[in-house]
Amino acid sequence: MTNSTATGGADDSARTAYGAPPGTSHSAAHSTAQSTPHSTAITRIGSLLTNDPSLRTPDNPLGLLQDAAVVIEGDRVVWTGTSSKAPATDSHHDAGGRALLPGFVDSHAHLVFAGDRTAEFHARMSGRPYTAGGIRTTVAATRAASDAELSANVARYLAEALRQGTTTQETKSGYGLTTRDEARALRIAAGHTDEVTYLGAHVVAPEFADDPAAYVALVTGGMLDACAPHARWIDVFCERGAFDGDQARAVLTAGAARGLIPRVHANQLSHGPGVQLAVELDAASADHCTHLTDADVDALAGAPRTVATLLPGAEFSTRAVYPDARRLLDAGVTVALSTDCNPGSSFTSSMAFCVAVAVRDMGMTPDEAVVAATLGGARALRRTDIGAIVPGARADLHLLDAPSHVHLAYRPGVPLTAAVWQAGEKRV
Ligand SMILES: [Zn+2]
Repeated sequence: MTNSTATGGADDSARTAYGAPPGTSHSAAHSTAQSTPHSTAITRIGSLLTNDPSLRTPDNPLGLLQDAAVVIEGDRVVWTGTSSKAPATDSHHDAGGRALLPGFVDSHAHLVFAGDRTAEFHARMSGRPYTAGGIRTTVAATRAASDAELSANVARYLAEALRQGTTTQETKSGYGLTTRDEARALRIAAGHTDEVTYLGAHVVAPEFADDPAAYVALVTGGMLDACAPHARWIDVFCERGAFDGDQARAVLTAGAARGLIPRVHANQLSHGPGVQLAVELDAASADHCTHLTDADVDALAGAPRTVATLLPGAEFSTRAVYPDARRLLDAGVTVALSTDCNPGSSFTSSMAFCVAVAVRDMGMTPDEAVVAATLGGARALRRTDIGAIVPGARADLHLLDAPSHVHLAYRPGVPLTAAVWQAGEKRV
């Protein structure tokens, strides 16, 4: 990953003796004994979207502040308020009237893979049947790749996402499907992000096609032993052709017994038990939620700790029907938006694209979609330090080259990211 190390913008000024010299990373600046964390003020923010619960009201559901400033100290936000009242800081970035919002939190992606599925996509979008291996193509390529190749791929897609405003990125295993390959995928992912998910139960490994029960025993046994130390979450693809409700329950409960928190690929392609299972097991997230019964919606509404994570890139890239976000929101369900970035069914790392599709085709307002892509993702990862710009939060900030967050949906496909701070460090 590239590491842009300047601690302020081009208009950085008034650096003090405590400030990091140009080209020094934040952590290096911090390593000096007794140094005060470097402070930066981002001023003249035309529209600051805070998601701050103390500022959110029925008339101002996003906690918007106009003509605002944010002060960062070290890796944290320490102050928000009116620009003219910003306290003195070591350095300064003039936002020039642009909009600032929390960095996107992409809580669902599959980035540890090798190879390419262009031919499959091309055939699907050209109305031609495609009979090659689908996910098995990616499994074979991933197994054949070196650690260095896989790590470089993860770094590439994380950097790509960061350039588009994503400051927290979850990623899963699931293209190894052997104990060795799943453990190595997680080890590699953990070198790049804290949000790592064990998905040995993505599909039944080809070697076990005639004995799926033996594969579930492996996923919940020796493979879990090898994988649990590298992961925070456990996930399962609960779907016809992948794992049924009983198998999914076995996978998730085995993971939970090892300290991994469940999340579920649920109700993507058809009605099924995934959502109910996610609620029953207090999963952090039920992901996809495309085919829901009223009972599924009621179950999610009654389980605020289980977020419905919608992944419109998957429906877009497979010409499938989108999930009905409006129905979920009207029922009071907490909704997140994520990319599902993977080479087979949703090869996008753009959260802004997901926001635009959610507004255009899923019944979300621009405000709801942006909240789902920031605070919603944080809730899906059970994180309280990200997804909002409030004192004490991690300084993950996304400056748009636009006057309002509404432009994310209003100007689809346009690169609007002007600057990104990740944990207080200006990275873009
Ligand atoms: Zn997925």
